[in-house]
Amino acid sequence: MALIVQKYGGTSVGDTEKIRNVAERVARVKDEGNDLVVVLSAMGGETDRLIKLAESATENDPDEREYDVLISTGEQVTISLLAMILKKMGYPTKSFLGSQVKILTDRIHKNARILKIDTELINGELKAGKIVVVAGFQGVDDNGNITTLGRGGSDTSAVALAAALKADYCENFTDVDGVYTTDPNVYDRARKLSRISYEEMLELASAGAKVLQHRSVELAKMYNVPIIVRSSFNDDRGTLVTMEDKDMERELVSGVTCDKDQAKISVIHVPDQPGVAERIFTPLSERNIIVDMIIQNASIEGYTDLTFTVSRKDMEEVKNILYEVVKEIGAERVDYDEKIAKVSVIGLGMKSHSGVASKMFAALAGEGINIMMISTSEIKISCAIRRKYTELAVQVLHDAFELDKEN
Ligand code: ASP
Ligand code: MG
Repeated sequence: MALIVQKYGGTSVGDTEKIRNVAERVARVKDEGNDLVVVLSAMGGETDRLIKLAESATENDPDEREYDVLISTGEQVTISLLAMILKKMGYPTKSFLGSQVKILTDRIHKNARILKIDTELINGELKAGKIVVVAGFQGVDDNGNITTLGRGGSDTSAVALAAALKADYCENFTDVDGVYTTDPNVYDRARKLSRISYEEMLELASAGAKVLQHRSVELAKMYNVPIIVRSSFNDDRGTLVTMEDKDMERELVSGVTCDKDQAKISVIHVPDQPGVAERIFTPLSERNIIVDMIIQNASIEGYTDLTFTVSRKDMEEVKNILYEVVKEIGAERVDYDEKIAKVSVIGLGMKSHSGVASKMFAALAGEGINIMMISTSEIKISCAIRRKYTELAVQVLHDAFELDKEN
């Protein structure tokens, strides 16, 4: 007998028919003698709908406290429906909101962090033989205000509950049946991984693969909660996200990802003086704009060029900010290029093997794909390329590292 936390995403609870399917799966696991805490998202599209309501009611300026009160309601609908279906099937069940469990968070509305979870209530219900269903994505602050955890936050709710309850593992049911070597929509030779380390999963997420909310993986890593990513529409075993082990380290590269939402900005002819980079990047970070790759050219006669990438959605804001900054620092001009993509290869094996970078560059060169920028971490190498080559780049890299083969 195990204690299992199961999380079902928006597509898995998209309508009452699907919620009935979830109920059947939950019932099966309960019948096998396990204790079960089920965490749900809102029905797919519901949170978006609620956000639009808040925006249209207030000329895009909703009060943050009331915004969280509103957008947390989608989960109240799904948990109550699942609980009433399970009860009808004869399974003692109880649903709870984040505030009832007491998922205590900080006071940052729209993007709160979980500080502590009371386990007494849930443990009591489990001991009494009940299935416990908890609303994902929400908590409560120390003043009793409802908070939400950021988009995709029910992944984090589930992992946090699993950690607090010392569950054996957390199953995350979604609309894909696991984590793949690359996006199967980009390359049909993508292979499902049977396991992947937390570290690689974090790099995959920051490189553009969105299977689990980033924070949920950070939390799982911190508390060593195994996560199984699987589909609620079939019985495939899915992908285990867990601590690295020796076998994993033998795998040189585990995945290739792409992010088409990149833009490149070059500040041209900048005086090469101390403090210039600070004056460019501080106003960006103050607006929470994440800068990814940065390169500075060798300086010629006291001047240099600074190039960096940001997410495309931040482009307009960057333009507004740099308009002033460029005048202040005496740079010549700013060039913008919105047709950029980032391709990355990720693998624990890079820690102990050389040659991954050169193999990557050779594979791209072989197709005549120009590398505009490069950045690396311990287990990731990323290249900025022209966006139109994204799919081709992913495919040649997948082939070059033979990711279609289990090794
Ligand atoms: N319903 C929330 C959202 O759409 C939370 C989640 O699905 O994880 O972001
Ligand atoms: Mg999700």
